[in-house]
Amino acid sequence: MPGHAVVTGGAGFVGSHLCDRLLARGMRVTCVDNLSTGRADNIAHLRGDFRFVEADVARGLDITGHVDLVLHLASPASPRDYERLPVETLQVGAAGTNHALDLAQANGARFVLASTSEVYGDPREHPQRETYWGNVNPVGPRSVYDEAKRYAEALTAAYRRARGVNTGIARIFNTYGPRMRADDGRAIPTFIRQVLTGEPVTIAGEGAQTRSLCYVDDTVDGLLALADSDLPGPVNLGNPHELRIRDLVGEIQRLAGTSVPVRGIPAPVDDPQRRCPDIAVAQRELGWQPRVELHEGLRRTLEWFATHVSLV
Ligand code: NAD
Repeated sequence: MPGHAVVTGGAGFVGSHLCDRLLARGMRVTCVDNLSTGRADNIAHLRGDFRFVEADVARGLDITGHVDLVLHLASPASPRDYERLPVETLQVGAAGTNHALDLAQANGARFVLASTSEVYGDPREHPQRETYWGNVNPVGPRSVYDEAKRYAEALTAAYRRARGVNTGIARIFNTYGPRMRADDGRAIPTFIRQVLTGEPVTIAGEGAQTRSLCYVDDTVDGLLALADSDLPGPVNLGNPHELRIRDLVGEIQRLAGTSVPVRGIPAPVDDPQRRCPDIAVAQRELGWQPRVELHEGLRRTLEWFATHVSLV
């Protein structure tokens, strides 16, 4: 797809991989990011038709030139980040999404919202299908993120219905890979940092809670497939391979060739016990499914962290 793409949150973990891929497709890319949880380093290598605008999307989006595609990823995404930035998280989900949708409407552009499996809260249905409405505590510590994304989805659906904007909603499940921050508190970078520095690995509770983990290249493939389609969604993007946290730690230790002690810590409030996507819609409507096996994705991620030790 030639043309001009605007990626909000493009200096973050997923957004920077998305910018790489859009540029490789020959698109002009404008990345708008306030660097609140992202890093300028993530986009420092980008050359060619790439422009970085340092700005807060919740305050507005001032883009010059015609825009063909708006990919709205700006938002703190890890529990540690959104608990540090609670009001900002709600603002970017609400006003930020509003501005991104207005930009798409003004340009007749395709709009893709990076929503999240967190809209399902602590789910009562397994695996989660897009038709499940979720089980979210509206005033718990995670609500700033969950409800921001639920509002962002509602706003996106309203712009489609009432204003004819060509929108798509992706519900992204846990994604991992190079360029995550070692200190963002999410499971994989935390375990990798602990294993690489020889600290004890900390597991919430017994480590029997499950996660399904998708390698970033797969998630980006899914976002691009959604961008290329006219599908409104919501569509789950994630890897249905469900594994227990303690088995994940075992796999990382095996790959790193080390064995460090494991220490139990209390589970965070409202921490979901199980999360697993049903990806039948993405398979059927987008011809998408994850391709990178956990073993291979973890190997690439470990290798990246090991060569970026300053970040560990
Ligand atoms: P990230 O924190 O690495 O990236 C988010 C980016 O948004 C950062 O660069 C940050 O600086 C930027 N940002 C935040 N608030 C902003 C604002 N007001 N204005 C401009 N920029 C702002 O997180 P990520 O993991 O890359 O997540 C990207 C998107 O994907 C988020 O919307 C997140 O909710 C969604 N998502 C990610 C995952 C995952 O597992 N990584 C899962 C579900 C959904």
